[in-house]
Amino acid sequence: MLFQPKIRVAVAPAAEYEVRRGLFDMFGSKLDISFEPHKPGEYEGLQALIALSGAADAARGASECGISCYEVNGSQPIPFAAQSAITFTSSATVQPAFRNKTLADSSLVSFSRVPDSFECLANVGGQPVWAMEQHDSYEHHHVGVDVPRFRQGEFFHSYFREARWFSMVPLLHFFRGLLGPDGWPAPEPRASFIIDDPNLHHRSYGYIDFEKLANHAAAHNYHATIATVPLDAWYFDRKVADLFQIHRKHISLMMHGVNHVANELARSYEEQDALSLLATGLRRIADLESRSGVAVARIMAAPHGAFVEFIADLMLRLGYESACVSIGSLLRWNPQKVWSPDLGFSLAQSLGSLPIFHRTGISETEIRLSAFLGHPIIVATHHQDCVSNFARLESMAKIVNSIGSTQWMGIEDISRTNFLSKTQNGMVQIWPYSRHFRIPLSAEFTSVQVCHSLYCEGFTIDLCSNHRDGAEIAVPNVPARYRISNNTMEIFFPSSNRVDYSQVASKSVGMWPVVRRLLTEARDRTQPILSLTSAR
Ligand SMILES: [Zn+2]
Repeated sequence: MLFQPKIRVAVAPAAEYEVRRGLFDMFGSKLDISFEPHKPGEYEGLQALIALSGAADAARGASECGISCYEVNGSQPIPFAAQSAITFTSSATVQPAFRNKTLADSSLVSFSRVPDSFECLANVGGQPVWAMEQHDSYEHHHVGVDVPRFRQGEFFHSYFREARWFSMVPLLHFFRGLLGPDGWPAPEPRASFIIDDPNLHHRSYGYIDFEKLANHAAAHNYHATIATVPLDAWYFDRKVADLFQIHRKHISLMMHGVNHVANELARSYEEQDALSLLATGLRRIADLESRSGVAVARIMAAPHGAFVEFIADLMLRLGYESACVSIGSLLRWNPQKVWSPDLGFSLAQSLGSLPIFHRTGISETEIRLSAFLGHPIIVATHHQDCVSNFARLESMAKIVNSIGSTQWMGIEDISRTNFLSKTQNGMVQIWPYSRHFRIPLSAEFTSVQVCHSLYCEGFTIDLCSNHRDGAEIAVPNVPARYRISNNTMEIFFPSSNRVDYSQVASKSVGMWPVVRRLLTEARDRTQPILSLTSAR
C-alpha cells in the first residue's frame, strides 16, 4: 500500500475536541490525518494544532515549537449583516475556486476580526476574517469563524452547500496544506450541464434549438447532457439524431425517468412491477439507439429528484450504470436511510449498491464548492434556462471555465472517470466511486491496484502479463471484470444478481402517462411562442 503514516493533529482545548468529535472522526476517515485531544504542553510528534476558542496559550506553544496552527479567534464578535459577503483575496494560498471572489453565506451570524499584520486571505467588508502567517516550515492560520460542531444527523454537506459553507473553507485549506497535493488526490476537473425533459421529436424543444445549442456549446466551451424521457423515445427526427452524432463532444443524452409521472422512481411498488417499469425504460432506450444510431447513457436523472433505495437496487440488477441526483433530493426522498457523516465530501455516494453522484441547481456558490472539492460540476437546468440565446448557460460556463482547465463531458464520461488515483513506482492505485470506469494506461505502468470499495474487495492487476486485445477478463475471486484496449483499461463491477431486462415482461403503461407527457411537451413547446405573443 502507498499509505503514509497519518499526520497527527491535536485539538485544544480537549473539551472542545470532544464536542466536535463527529466532525474530526469524519475527516479522519477520509483524509490521512489523525485527530486527538491536546494535552497541555505536549507537542512532541505533532504536525499541527487546532486551537479553538480559549486555547491561545496552546497556539503560542505551537508557534514556539514550529508547528503549524489553525487558531480560531472568537473575541469581540461583529454581527454579520444580511447583505454581507465574504471576499477572498488574490493570495496564491486561496484555491482557484475562491480566489478573488465575493460570495454570500446566509448562515453566518457574526465573525471576529483577525490580526491584519499577516497575509489576508478573506475579509468581510474590508475586515480580515482569515489571515495566514507563513514561516519557513510551518503556517499559522488566524480564523474569525468557529470550527463547525456536528450535531446528531448532520453531514459534511450540512456545512458545505450554498446556504452554509464558509466555516469549512479555511479549515479545508489548512488540511490541504498539511497533506500536500499527493495527500489530497482529486480527478481532473470535470463538468456538464444537464437539461431535463427534451426529446428528439423536432429540431427544437421549448427554448432549445438543438443545432444552436450545439454550436453555442462549442463556441463557449461547455457540454449539455439532455436528460430525455424513455416514453418519448418512440419517435425521433433524423436531423436531430444526426446533430447528436456530429456534435457528441458538446451534446449527449441520458435517461430521465421512464414515463415521467409523479414520484415515478420513489413510489412503493411490488418488486415485479418496478422491474417491469425499469426494464421498459431500458427497452425503449435500446430501441431508440438502434433506430437512430445515437447513444444514450444508462444513467438516471430522476425526475424532480424523487429517487429511493429500493429502485436504485433494482436498477443496478437490470444493468443501469449509476444515477445523478442532488444530495438534497436524496435526503428528502430517503428519510429513513442512515447516511454516512461524510455525505457530500466524497465524489459519490452509494444508494443501495448503485453509485450516485450529484448535481446542483444554478448557483455560482455551488459551482465553486464542487470545484474546490474536485467533484464533477453538474448543473441541472431546464429548457427555460436556454431563453435569450442560452445566456444563462453562457454565464455559468464562464464561471466554470474561469476556475481552471475544466474538461466538459457527457454524464457517462463523468461517471466513468469518477475515481481517485495515485501513481508510485509504476503502480497505479485506484479508489473507485463508480461501478464502471476507464483508466488511461501509460507505458510505465506495471500494475493497477484497485482499492477496496463499497462495490468490490480490493485486487491488483499485473499489466506486464496481460492481453491488450479488448477481450473481457474476470478478476479471480472477486466480482470484477476488465478489458484493455487502445491503452485504456476498463474495469466494471457487475451486479451479482443480474436480471436480463429484455426478459422482463412489460406492463402496459395505460393512457395517463402518455397523455401527461403529451400535455407537458405541448406546454414546453408552446411556452416560447406564448411568451413571444405576450411580449408583443
Ligand atoms: Zn423532468
